[in-house]
Amino acid sequence: MTTKPAELSTTRLIEVFSAIQGEGLNVGTRQIFIRFALCDLRCNFCDSAYTWSAPSTCRIERSPGCRDFETHSNPVPLPLLLQWIERQNFLVCTIASVSLEANHYFTPPSWCNFYPS
Ligand code: SF4
Repeated sequence: MTTKPAELSTTRLIEVFSAIQGEGLNVGTRQIFIRFALCDLRCNFCDSAYTWSAPSTCRIERSPGCRDFETHSNPVPLPLLLQWIERQNFLVCTIASVSLEANHYFTPPSWCNFYPS
């Protein structure tokens, strides 16, 4: 079975928001958190089991740090996800770094900090 290009250009999200990082090398800095759905690692210490499935909707913060979430349908086209990330950076004066919250089955891009979700 082959995957159609259109299927490759979407993702299933839990949420996107901006916050001050509370752990790791970037603690204390503003970051954009992108939490993906469908984690399949099943860690026994998991406190985020809601990421194990794919909800029909995801929540996207409209204004950085304001928790004024919009609700959008899953799956999300990747160009739209990139627009939301750009909006998070456009609305504040400082450029945030990006934290990806996902499982370990891919190589994260060099421009982001990677944390298991
Ligand atoms: S990687 Fe994170 S979300 Fe996934 S099972 Fe482990 S702790 Fe839970």
